[in-house]
Amino acid sequence: MKEYIYADNAATTKLDSDAFEAMKQYMLDDYGNASQPYFFAKRPKMALKNARMEIADCIGAEPEEIFFTSGGTESDNWVIRKFGFPTDIRHVITSNIEHHAVLNTCKIESRDNRCDVRMLKADPQGIIHPEELEIILSEKKEVYASSETTLVSVMYANNEIGTIEPIKELCEVAHNHGVMFHTDAVQALGHIEINVKELGVDFLSASAHKFNGPKGIGFLYHKGGLLDQFHSGGSQEMGMRAGTEDIASIVGMAVALRKNVEAISANTEHLKNLENLLIKDLRNARVDFVRNGTNQLPGNVSLSFADASGEMLLHRLDLKKIFVSTGSACNGKDTQISHVIEAIGVPQKYAEGTIRISLGKANTEDEVRQIAKEIVAILSH
Ligand code: PLP
Repeated sequence: MKEYIYADNAATTKLDSDAFEAMKQYMLDDYGNASQPYFFAKRPKMALKNARMEIADCIGAEPEEIFFTSGGTESDNWVIRKFGFPTDIRHVITSNIEHHAVLNTCKIESRDNRCDVRMLKADPQGIIHPEELEIILSEKKEVYASSETTLVSVMYANNEIGTIEPIKELCEVAHNHGVMFHTDAVQALGHIEINVKELGVDFLSASAHKFNGPKGIGFLYHKGGLLDQFHSGGSQEMGMRAGTEDIASIVGMAVALRKNVEAISANTEHLKNLENLLIKDLRNARVDFVRNGTNQLPGNVSLSFADASGEMLLHRLDLKKIFVSTGSACNGKDTQISHVIEAIGVPQKYAEGTIRISLGKANTEDEVRQIAKEIVAILSH
């Protein structure tokens, strides 16, 4: 048995050892600047090209549609801040359960009244319905008339409760109205199959550390349409995102993504088995709880326990060296429920007792049984 149980894989994952091995070469030996014309830059340049091809292939894209970024936050910021025609008033239609990388960016963009933001509301299971998007877009046809001024942004799968959204259908609605569609696939990529051409999305955000790649690297898939450069400087990333590329991390991301994509069905089977064990053990112990979400990402288990405190559970599990997340945090005298738990309307009796256990491929049946046992022990004292 390990000294600790890591069950917070939606927060970050362990770096894959093959990815790490592949990265070393570009840190210690072939560390040249890929933009330079001489021989020493040849191998890093080739590695950059190959990684772009590999990543594109994993999601059904073309290499020139992949732009490397520093991760999910940057990719989300890039699209929301820079889509469309900069001199026009812009419109973003997003959802009330997005990650703060989207929500806070929308808030800031709307402050100067040059961007208006409208929220789609998740249902009690965390689903965003295409019918609601259709109503919003139809009601104000003249306002949301163009891909140069309107963007719909809905996450692929929610980070707190795991619900996978009907992205293809939402994207179809957006396109029928002639507007662009972005999805934050940070939690989903590497864990479920994603093909951007089948989905039809215009933009997709991804982050390597959520699929056993290194931290601080990610990418934006950009099919076409109006998107301004992220920031100015050199001509890297086809002139769209200046700055010397982190070849080692990009290589590590490509290796990790390929490995995870190839193992999706085996990992899914393993994780669904672990989830079932966890839920079964808690039910057998007659614990009063609800599981949040539906059609969840493999391994993402958000549980709300009756008359409990998620924060207390997190800290008591921490003392047992079991690491999970909470969906509520106490700030002084109030307990703050996360915006997602609030948006899906988890009843008060349960909401404050929310934790997220996010299992990864390295977790075992013994670990999951241990987690269930400790939760039962904490709740019965
Ligand atoms: N979007 C979602 C859905 C996430 O879960 C996260 C990270 O938790 C992010 C964006 C931010 O990604 P990064 O940590 O790569 O900036």
